Amino acid sequence: MADCLFCKIAAKELDADIVYETDDLVAFRDINPMAPTHILVIPRRHIDSASDLGASDGELLGEIFETIAKLASQSGIPGGHRIVTNVGPDAGQSVGHLHFHLIGGRGMSWPPG
Ligand code: 5GP
Ligand code: ZN
Repeated sequence: MADCLFCKIAAKELDADIVYETDDLVAFRDINPMAPTHILVIPRRHIDSASDLGASDGELLGEIFETIAKLASQSGIPGGHRIVTNVGPDAGQSVGHLHFHLIGGRGMSWPPG
């Protein structure tokens, strides 16, 4: 997608602190971290949000969640972590390319704000 920020990061047209990548996904540090560990994991292929996922994306989602688990265990956050994907403006989605936040390294409250 020509005008999508995260498509540009995936294509290396924009700089990001990439921590892991494969043919299908890219993981990079959030520019405005909300916790000591805050990594975004995105599919390379443009998908608007989690509402646009279907059964045919099962393999991609498996790879994304395996990657999140691996990055969490490498991040030295044994106390746990949170995985978040916001859908739409009320939930706070500000970039219209599916992304999963991996957040950890501090205690977190529930429910989220
Ligand atoms: P959302 O609000 O859509 O759930 O999450 C978007 C996230 O992308 C935010 O946490 C924001 O800080 C991050 N972000 C926005 N622009 C950039 C950027 O140019 N580079 C990086 N690394 N993160 C970004
Ligand atoms: Zn995109």
